[in-house]
Amino acid sequence: MQCTGEVASYIPELAKINPEKFGMHLHCINSGHYSFGDNEERFSIQSISKVFALTRAMTLLGDDLFNRVDVEPSGDPFNSLVQLEYEHGIPRNPFINAGALVISDVLISELDTPKEDFLNFIQKITNNPSIAINQTVFDSEKKYSHRNAALLNLMKSFGNIKNDIETVLDFYIYQCAVEMSCKELSTAFMIYANGGKKLIENTQILTPKKVKRINAIMQTCGFYDEAGEFSFRVGLPGKSGVGGGIAAVHPGQYTVTVWSPPLNPKGNSELGMYALERLTTLTGLSIF
Ligand code: GLU
Repeated sequence: MQCTGEVASYIPELAKINPEKFGMHLHCINSGHYSFGDNEERFSIQSISKVFALTRAMTLLGDDLFNRVDVEPSGDPFNSLVQLEYEHGIPRNPFINAGALVISDVLISELDTPKEDFLNFIQKITNNPSIAINQTVFDSEKKYSHRNAALLNLMKSFGNIKNDIETVLDFYIYQCAVEMSCKELSTAFMIYANGGKKLIENTQILTPKKVKRINAIMQTCGFYDEAGEFSFRVGLPGKSGVGGGIAAVHPGQYTVTVWSPPLNPKGNSELGMYALERLTTLTGLSIF
């Protein structure tokens, strides 16, 4: 396949990534690991982090969370301000930037040390205490976060942001700057494929009810304004990020992560989507 996508450049540090990188990691519940290419190299997970943040916020607030953020696809770009104005500061879903910023605000209100807690949660579900953020990516995004600041200001004017704007922005950019490999993401996402349990120790991290809801939000809102196309071509719940990663799950069967930095015009990894489409079509293992 001819790749025509482009590496994200609005965060300058991401533009430096080698566009030829390609990694894929499949982790099956019953039959182990299968991998390809740069599957153990860490990359910037960016918006894939929004799944982990949503998970923590749902655990802390339960259904009250959904008074502040909805669960409908937006049909608009991930950083759009338009819908927020006429929907009175309630973001369409937790995976567009506005929704993720509300989730950040919730975590800051609920936790004493939100950054440490967030990183500890990812380390715990991945069984890897070395997972960390990339400080250079963090600094780079911080300098160009005017649009996220605008979203926060607009939502604060509607009363849907409780904390100081700088603090929320700082936490949000921190969570996006986490780096993980395809292999690590496939392990972390196993809780969403395995009924809320870690595969390794069988510890219950999340209730099956919450898993069902998170997977539903991934299915309908996980791919910017291309969630329909992703369902149509791949047929798995998942989440993408502008670092070129996509993590997806087949509940009861497997998790799969792919990383290829060039993005299509909607912001999803072009080759990543193609690889996942081939995987589910050739194996017959999509959820549909
Ligand atoms: N940190 C990025 C932003 O807020 C995340 C974008 C993404 O991966 O969707 O613009």
